[in-house]
Amino acid sequence: MTPRLFATSAGLVLEHEARYVDWSARMRHEGVEGDLLSHVRAGVFERQRFGELWSSGPWIDVAPPVQVDVPIPRPGKILALGKNFAAHAAEFGERVPAEPLVFEKLPECLVPSGATVSPPPGYDRRFDHEAELAVWIGGEGRAVAPERALELVAGYTVANDLTLRSLQGSDRKQGRPWFFAKNFDGALPLGPCFVPRDQLDVSELTVTCSVNGELRQAASTRQFVVSIEQAIAHISRHLTLHAGDLVLMGTPAGVGPLEDGDVVVAAVEGIGDLVTTIARPRG
Ligand code: ZN
Repeated sequence: MTPRLFATSAGLVLEHEARYVDWSARMRHEGVEGDLLSHVRAGVFERQRFGELWSSGPWIDVAPPVQVDVPIPRPGKILALGKNFAAHAAEFGERVPAEPLVFEKLPECLVPSGATVSPPPGYDRRFDHEAELAVWIGGEGRAVAPERALELVAGYTVANDLTLRSLQGSDRKQGRPWFFAKNFDGALPLGPCFVPRDQLDVSELTVTCSVNGELRQAASTRQFVVSIEQAIAHISRHLTLHAGDLVLMGTPAGVGPLEDGDVVVAAVEGIGDLVTTIARPRG
């Protein structure tokens, strides 16, 4: 089982080998100050260092977290890939774009696992789930070569790129940017935890989404049209990537509408379940 870090109101909790321990206390003990990004930069998640930390004390055992926060400190920018699975592009009668398609989600859209999300007031048309692997950037890079791109990655979490599908469709038809279809309060559930890069091979993991227990999306990261390395190389040719930025890797086929009371679980194998409840009260 992968080591997983949960952000809670009492600090960071590490789940590893069937134990939950106070990660923040241990970092203070090690003299590593600051937030999760500082921990990444201090190298504590590198395989050998982490192994040494884990096998030596002291660890304070804590209860499994019930309520979690967004697992990473507030990102600088959030860039998302569109149509990054051929089968998902096909469900809208489209082909995979020749150049990677990238759009923006604002950091204010973030909500943690366990949140309840509603579309904006008055919006009563199609509102979709999109389960995605989220890549958290831990360093600074401009025009990064694909071979070096993974060095920039701090780790991973799960995103649900909630989308006002009907608004996106009408905006596209009018040739308008579909900004508000992707950006509204609660539009980006993220979590439940952070998994450090060196602790998880993401080259072949299953990305799924289920609604009320029914599986709606499932595909492997092996099927990405644009790999994580290519995405980082492409984005960083246009914009310098900074520590704390987030890249969403696109969603598998099977996106579909959400209704009042739906419980959505977006998941990536080895990372965890991101749970969101949908509220769409009528009238
Ligand atoms: Zn998406």
